[in-house]
Amino acid sequence: MPRYDFRCRECGSTFEVSRPMSEASDPAACPAGHGDTVKLLTTVAVGGRASGSAAPVPAGGGGCCGGGCCGGG
Ligand SMILES: [Zn+2]
Repeated sequence: MPRYDFRCRECGSTFEVSRPMSEASDPAACPAGHGDTVKLLTTVAVGGRASGSAAPVPAGGGGCCGGGCCGGG
């Protein structure tokens, strides 16, 4: 079963969730009980190690402008 990395936007912690691919896009709850989480792009290691990627990035399309901190609200 593949594992997916999530990051909580409330406490900033990252965690892994093991789930079938059919539920890959489903939201995951933070271990601390928070619901505002984003799925991170994960590289599936298939016979090799990824090089060049420093840190996982949110899959929601950007860190700042994706949430609303600079949405002019
Ligand atoms: Zn949290």
